Amino acid sequence: MNELVCGDCWRRDHLTFAQRLDPAFIRHGSRYLCPEHRTLRAELCRAAGPVHRHVPDPTENRAA
Ligand SMILES: [Zn+2]
Repeated sequence: MNELVCGDCWRRDHLTFAQRLDPAFIRHGSRYLCPEHRTLRAELCRAAGPVHRHVPDPTENRAA
């Protein structure tokens, strides 16, 4: 059985592009994400993150 369907995979397989952008459909998918999409989400989060992106200071890297 395939009870844990990745929400992003589900949308990709069942919705049109326009539907995917519709907030009404965003809630439809399960919250489970496959490892692939979990990684993708993490990367999107990091990219979209705070408006003012933290610019690493050279001295910080040295401290770490
Ligand atoms: Zn997925």
